[in-house]
Amino acid sequence: MCPYCQAENADSALVCASCARDIAVPATLIAERDDLLRKRDQLRAELAQARDELEAIMRRGKSR
Ligand SMILES: [Zn+2]
Repeated sequence: MCPYCQAENADSALVCASCARDIAVPATLIAERDDLLRKRDQLRAELAQARDELEAIMRRGKSR
C-alpha cells in the first residue's frame, strides 16, 4: 500500500506505480525523520538564541 495515494504496490516496489513517490521507506520512519528534523530545527533555534544571550553577556562584561 502506498502511504500517499493508497494505491496497492508489490512489497518489493521502491516507487509507487500510481503516484511515483518513494515508498521504500515505511511511513513510520518518514514520520520519525520529520520529527527529528523538527527537533533539529528547534535545537538550532535554541542554540542561536543561547549564542545571542552569551554575546550580550560578554558585551556587558567588557563595557564594565
Ligand atoms: Zn502512491
